[in-house]
Amino acid sequence: MKTLDDLDLKGKRVFMRVDFNVPLDKERRVRDDLRIRAVLPSVHKVLDSGGRLVLASHLGRPKGKVADEFSLKPAAGRLSELLGKPVVLVPDCVGPEVEKRVSLLKEGEALLLENLRFHAEEEKNDPDFSRRLAELADIYVNEAFAASHRAHASVQGITRFVPVCAAGYQLQQEIEYFKKVMVNPQRPLAIIVGGAKVSTKLGLLENLIPKVDYLIIGGAMANTFLKAGGKEVGKSLVESDYIETAQRLTDLANKRGVKVLLPVDAVVSEVAEGGADVQKVSIDRVPGEAQIFDIGPQSVQVFESVLKECKTIVWNGPMGVFETAPFGKGTFALAEFLGSIGALTVIGGGDSAAAVRQAGAEDKVSYISTGGGAFLELLEGKDLPGVSALEECGKRQR
Ligand code: ADP
Ligand code: MG
Repeated sequence: MKTLDDLDLKGKRVFMRVDFNVPLDKERRVRDDLRIRAVLPSVHKVLDSGGRLVLASHLGRPKGKVADEFSLKPAAGRLSELLGKPVVLVPDCVGPEVEKRVSLLKEGEALLLENLRFHAEEEKNDPDFSRRLAELADIYVNEAFAASHRAHASVQGITRFVPVCAAGYQLQQEIEYFKKVMVNPQRPLAIIVGGAKVSTKLGLLENLIPKVDYLIIGGAMANTFLKAGGKEVGKSLVESDYIETAQRLTDLANKRGVKVLLPVDAVVSEVAEGGADVQKVSIDRVPGEAQIFDIGPQSVQVFESVLKECKTIVWNGPMGVFETAPFGKGTFALAEFLGSIGALTVIGGGDSAAAVRQAGAEDKVSYISTGGGAFLELLEGKDLPGVSALEECGKRQR
């Protein structure tokens, strides 16, 4: 896989697939520009090297139709502010008008193409559409890790029609951290999983249990495991269809010598609103009418006592309903703890990343992945189509 540092960019048309699928507010301003800031090092590299930069992204799900609400205009505005120079939004992403605008680009200049998903062919990975995108490029750069689990035209198809492909810095970093934690981890290695459902994390659990030394389970997902172990969890969210699966995974962990840790206490309430009826209870004493909305302080202590012995820690999935006070305490305590230790700590998942930021630990942990679904697929042991495509393209170049 080539990187931006391996290439001569001067005068070249560099087609960079980015992920500017940013959240917008009611006035259609960028509410969170993290994804735009994340690609700035790659953007600067191309511009400073005298490349002619063509940026392309999707936003939302316009389903193949042009719709103003999904325009990338707000992203172009924010990028212009961050760069301190205008980045023009071209009204389409393929066609003669676009080709003309790209041909007029000067060295060190950038433009942004309009939403790729205004064309249904993008998500269909249509070869003709891929080829038309490739016509805009001397060099293709994938700087959209968060979209790299999708076999779409601008992520995968295009790589077959461009002469040179490379990974952007952000994508490169994502892969490097993934390898550090999963391919050659320093041990002991712990994975912390949480979030709402066992069912959405099944692939991850199956793949990781044989690889880790410790499996720590929190969030609503823990309820299903607790139930499998014979505990009563009142009216808490439980996936009844997955109790047997939870038992099977626990058995698998035991067989592999993986130590499994479940919450030993919980923060419970009848409604997820917080207020007077919120209680801390031992996990053996969850009232019949109550629901578990967070792990309790004892659980945090137990988890920390194990984690402080670990050299590598991966975390996906909040420990509770962190969006609603006071049910964020367990999640935030864990985030702060991970930020305070010397281990390699990598966090992924949209909600988990948000929780770590909310806890103020974003600069203290080792790495927060920018890819929600893409990060999960890596943890599930899958190859990402966008990354494989870069590798294939690299082989052809050699
Ligand atoms: P990520 O986006 O990091 O992969 P998930 O989407 O899997 O995480 O899970 C996040 C969601 O899980 C949050 O919305 C949170 O409120 C919910 N959750 C965590 N613990 C509980 C719980 N005990 N009861 C209900 N929902 C929970
Ligand atoms: Mg989520």
